[in-house]
Amino acid sequence: MKPKIKWTPQRLAILKYLDGNKEHPSAEDIYAALSKDFPTMSVATVYNVLEFLKRTNRVKEINIDQEKRRFDPDTSEHHHAICVKCKKVFDIFKDINIPDLDKYLSGFDVIDAHLQIHVLCPECKEKKDLHIGQREYQCSICGSIRTAKHKPQKCPSCGSRGSLKEFNHQKH
Ligand code: ZN
Ligand code: MN
Repeated sequence: MKPKIKWTPQRLAILKYLDGNKEHPSAEDIYAALSKDFPTMSVATVYNVLEFLKRTNRVKEINIDQEKRRFDPDTSEHHHAICVKCKKVFDIFKDINIPDLDKYLSGFDVIDAHLQIHVLCPECKEKKDLHIGQREYQCSICGSIRTAKHKPQKCPSCGSRGSLKEFNHQKH
C-alpha cells in the first residue's frame, strides 16, 4: 500500500504555484513569490518540498542554469534552451537528433543525452544594439549617424566641426 501523502498548506501552495508554470523557477523564485502568504516558510522548506515533489514525480529538476537549480512541473521528456542574457528558459518539445554520437564513443551504447543549449532570445537580441549610456548623434552637414557617449566635436564622416546634433528616433 502506498503511504498516504500529507498535503501541508505549504506543499499545496508550492504545487499550485508550479502548476502550468513555464518559467522554470528556482527555489528562491518560489520562495519570493510565496513568502508573503507564508511568513514562517524558509528557502530550506521550499527545497524540502521540491525534493518531495521530485520524489513523487510531480516536478523535474533541470540543470541548464549554472547559477541556480531550476524546477519544471512539466515532467515530460523535453529539451531546454537558456538565454545567456535574461536567463529565461525555453522548452523544446521536438526530438533533437545527435546523429554522430556513437562516432565519439565507439563501443558504447548511448542511453541518454542531455543538451545544454545556450541562446540569445529574440527579446534580448533586439536589445543588444542599445548600449547603456550611449546616444546617437547626426551630422547636420552629411547626415551620418554616430553612436557615442559624448557628443563628438567633429563629424567622423565629413569632418565638419560642431555639426553633430542629438538624433531622436521619435521625431523622425
Ligand atoms: Zn533573453
Ligand atoms: Mn521545461
